[in-house]
Amino acid sequence: MANAARDTFVVGLRNAHAMEVQARELMERQSERLDEYPEVKAKVTAHLQETNEQLSRLEKCLEACGESTSTLKDTAQSVMANMMALAHSAAGDEILKNTFANNAFENFEIAAYKSLLALCGAAGVPEAKAPLEMSLKEEQRMAAWIDSNVEKVTMEYLTHQRQAA
Ligand code: MG
Ligand code: FE
Repeated sequence: MANAARDTFVVGLRNAHAMEVQARELMERQSERLDEYPEVKAKVTAHLQETNEQLSRLEKCLEACGESTSTLKDTAQSVMANMMALAHSAAGDEILKNTFANNAFENFEIAAYKSLLALCGAAGVPEAKAPLEMSLKEEQRMAAWIDSNVEKVTMEYLTHQRQAA
């Protein structure tokens, strides 16, 4: 039982690490193209900082499990993230597509951290609880902000459309 929980926890930590690398790539690509939406840009940039913290928290959790962090296979996912950002950048309504995608992504992250938190006790790594909870709260704050900003960003997009016409 202890070993199954620990194995599941370690795999979960590695997957979460890959997820955060993907998040970082997505937000880096997006923030380069958000000059027309300064409020969104500030929020994405701030969450990018949080994401770097989340990555090092996950690395510390892996180390607490006696796992090496040098063999993390994050590359495939980050290629995917870049392709996704690129696909959206070809669209006129890039800001809207990115808002929807970010909303989905933050909620995916929330579920991943909740799952890790459910496992850390049984995995015998109780010291992982506090850092994982910190990351969960950051994801919940970001998800709540995106959710409350959908209508505003849509109307801002409309204003930019009118100015361009
Ligand atoms: Mg994150
Ligand atoms: Fe996030």
